[in-house]
Amino acid sequence: MSRIDRVPLVHASLGEQELAAVAEVFASGWPAGQGPKGKALETQLKERYGAGGAVAVSNCGAALHLAMLALGVKPGDEVIVADYTFPAPAHAVRYVGAVPVFADVRADTGTIDPQAVAELIGPRTVGVIAVDTVGMPADYAQLQTIADRHGLFVVEDAACAVGATYQGREAGALAEVACLSFHGRKGATSGEGGALIAADPAVAEDARLRSSFGIGSIFDQSQIVGLPIPEFTEIGYNFKLSDIAAAILQVQIGRIGELLQRRDAVAARYAELLGDEELLTLPRVPADRTHAWQSYMVTLDRSVDRAKVATDLRAQGIGCGHGTWATHEQPVFETKQKCPTSADLFRRNLAIPMHAELSMDQVEQVAHTLRTAVRTHTGSVRRAA
Ligand SMILES: *Cc1c(COP(=O)(O)O)cnc(C)c1O
Repeated sequence: MSRIDRVPLVHASLGEQELAAVAEVFASGWPAGQGPKGKALETQLKERYGAGGAVAVSNCGAALHLAMLALGVKPGDEVIVADYTFPAPAHAVRYVGAVPVFADVRADTGTIDPQAVAELIGPRTVGVIAVDTVGMPADYAQLQTIADRHGLFVVEDAACAVGATYQGREAGALAEVACLSFHGRKGATSGEGGALIAADPAVAEDARLRSSFGIGSIFDQSQIVGLPIPEFTEIGYNFKLSDIAAAILQVQIGRIGELLQRRDAVAARYAELLGDEELLTLPRVPADRTHAWQSYMVTLDRSVDRAKVATDLRAQGIGCGHGTWATHEQPVFETKQKCPTSADLFRRNLAIPMHAELSMDQVEQVAHTLRTAVRTHTGSVRRAA
């Protein structure tokens, strides 16, 4: 049976400005990828991130796949991946026949633990994919030091982190290659969409070419006088972002500050309302970074029955979810590795409504319902406060 939540877990902020941008694309007659809007979006992203190059692609999974190819990852290579995440990084490693090695995460931030990375490096390790967990940037200073010592690449999976910062720098520019998602559940969206941001223009060029079957922009070719016939010199993919989506994203990128300000206010209110609840641990943002709040995950005390809490919230029309995954526990990866902190967060975290369209009344309603539910479904004997 389907339900419609009164207070949904996520809600994309798409409106009149985005509609107007789409109307322009319809009028132009070029809705496909790598046209004028796609190019304009790539320029906008390149400037925003101060990058060598930016490539607009169909989704973040495609961006991660292209990153592995552009960085020369070969079958049998090992790539260390953050464990506690939507498992796209491990998928990307497998796309190129390489082996994902799962690194446990910090208990306080849920981001990849640099110490775990250092311990997992072996003779076949070629790089690390760090994840900005639901919008919280990882420890790039420590990760880069370790990577430099061993000649490894670092890729930033910033799928959830558009708008976040680390030591004053933008998430999406914290490693030599970063991958962004513009999926409908992220902070800036075109429904589906993604981008690869690279410090080295050659990496961006390689990714752009492979994203269009290896022959470059058909739009550009249509502008040339004469009849040059491009040749296919390698196997590429169709990972292009449509100009329709690019037009939407140009508007969304311009609204990142406004939308993030609203999510920040929601997070601050949750902290005020729930900070004293002993059965919950709220997200804590280290002083050297800011959060993009793709999700707001609370960690339930071990005595609390998460499934029952979720059932209560949903029964009252409040969206919630398990948050994200312990990748190493997913059957497809068939690993014997253990990541105890990731496994623990996978069992105890609960994502509660977080998006820019929430009213403060709704935030108060969520907080009140959650507090009641965790107190009802705790196994430990508690006295009323
Ligand atoms: C959502 C997400 C992805 C996948 O993004 P798509 O654009 O849907 O492919 C990858 N990595 C992380 C960390 C994500 O949260």
